[in-house]
Amino acid sequence: QAHLDRIAAVDGDVHAFLHVSDHALEVAADIDRRRAAGEQLGPVAGVPLAIKDVLVTTDMPSTSGSRILEGFLSPYDATVVARSRAAGLVPLGKTNMDEFAMGSSTEHSAYGATHNPWDLDRIPGGSGGGSAAAVAAFEAPLALGSDTGGSIRQPAHVTGTVGVKPTYGGVSRYGAIALASSLDQVGPVTRTVLDAGLLHDVIGGHDPHDSTSLTEAWPSFAAAAREGATGQVLKGLKVGVISELPDSGFQAGVSESFRAALAAMEAQGAEIVEISAPHFEYGVAAYYLILPAEASSNLAKFDSVRFGLRVDVPGGTVEDVMAKTRDVGFGEEVKRRIILGTYALSAGYYDAYYGSAQKVRTLIQRDFDEAFAKVDVIATPSAPTTAFKLGEKIDDPLQMYLNDVTTIPANLAGVPGISIPSGLAAEDGLPVGIQFLAPAREDARLYRVGAALE
Ligand code: GLN
Repeated sequence: QAHLDRIAAVDGDVHAFLHVSDHALEVAADIDRRRAAGEQLGPVAGVPLAIKDVLVTTDMPSTSGSRILEGFLSPYDATVVARSRAAGLVPLGKTNMDEFAMGSSTEHSAYGATHNPWDLDRIPGGSGGGSAAAVAAFEAPLALGSDTGGSIRQPAHVTGTVGVKPTYGGVSRYGAIALASSLDQVGPVTRTVLDAGLLHDVIGGHDPHDSTSLTEAWPSFAAAAREGATGQVLKGLKVGVISELPDSGFQAGVSESFRAALAAMEAQGAEIVEISAPHFEYGVAAYYLILPAEASSNLAKFDSVRFGLRVDVPGGTVEDVMAKTRDVGFGEEVKRRIILGTYALSAGYYDAYYGSAQKVRTLIQRDFDEAFAKVDVIATPSAPTTAFKLGEKIDDPLQMYLNDVTTIPANLAGVPGISIPSGLAAEDGLPVGIQFLAPAREDARLYRVGAALE
C-alpha cells in the first residue's frame, strides 16, 4: 500500500509506470495468509517488484514501449516473472522504456518520456529508465530490467541506483521481447548491491525454454554481497583500468568520481593495474551494426497478423495492411534501426558490414580474455556523462549512441557487469556510477566487489 501511495503521489511527475497492477494488494494479502499459515517463504516474499514492459505478463499488458503492441496481453509469463511470483514477489506494475529497448533516455517510448527523480527536466537513462526511476523515486524497492547494450547499467548510473547485467545465458530470456538475441540479458535494478543479489538469486539459473541458457548451478549472489560487505575482498584485488579509454568525452565530474573510487579501493588494499583493451572503443560501431541486424529480423514478426495492432487499408492487399501497420505502429528510432539492419544484412553488403562487425566482436572478446588473465575485474565509469536534459540529444542519434561506449563491450563479449553509485558530480550534483566487469560466469565477483564499496 505504501508503494501504491507513493506511485499515486509522484508518478504523475516521474512517469515511471505504463501500467500499475490493480491486484497487487490481493497478491500481498495472499502471501500474508500463507505466512500466517506457517508456510516457509523465501527472503523476498511480500516485497513489491516493478517489471520493465519488455517482459511479458499474463495479468498486465506488455507493450515494450511500442504502439504496435498497445494493450497486448501475453498468454504466458516470462520465466523471470514466473520465478518472481513463485518467490512471493508482488508485481506492482510495468515500467516505461524506449520502444523495443532502443535508446538511452526513455524518450523513444511511444507513451511519453520518463523523468529523472533527481531533476525532472533530465533523462532517467534508457532504455530501462522507467525501472531505474521507479527504484530511485522509492516507488518500488526492486525492479527488473533488460540490458542489450547498457539499458540496465546506464539508467542505474544516472539515477544513483544499482544495476546488474548478468553473464549472457545466466538469466532466462524466455518472455523477454527480443531486441538483439545474442546481446539481450535480463537483470536486477535496485537501491543496494544486496537487494540486486537477492533478486538475481530468484530470477537466475537454467531455463529449458531458452536455448542459450547456461546449465550450471550458480552460487548465491546475496551471499556474495554479504561476503563483500565485510570489505575484506578488496585486499589484493587486481582492478584493471583501460589505458585506451579516451579521457575526452567524459564529463569532468564523472572522471573525478571514477578516480576517487579507484583511490578509495587502493586505500583498502586493491591494486590498480593499467590494461590494454585496444578494440574496446570500436564496440559502439560494431554494436550499431549487429544490433540493428538482429533487431530487424526479430521485429519482422510484428506483421499485423500475429500480434497487436492492425491498421486496415480499404481495398488494400495484405502487404498494404502490413506496411501501413508497421508505418503507424513503429516509431522513428525503430524504423531507423530496421532500415540500418536490413541494409547491413543485404546481399553484397553482408560481409562488409555484418561480417566486419562480428570480427570486431571477436577482437573485443579477445581483449577481455587477455585482460582477465591479468586482473580480477575491470573498472570504468558507467557512462560518459551525468543525466542530460530531456530533448538535448533526441535529434542526434550519434550523440545518443555514444552514451553506450563503456557498457556495450560487456554485451558483445557476454561478460557480466554491475553499475553502482559512486557519488555525485561536483559540477551538477547529479549521480555518477562506476562499472565493474568480470569474466563470464563470475557474476558473484561483481557482487562481492560492489558490496565492498557501498
Ligand atoms: N542504448 C542502447 C541502445 O539503444 C542500449 C539498449 C539496451 O540495452 N536495450 O541500443
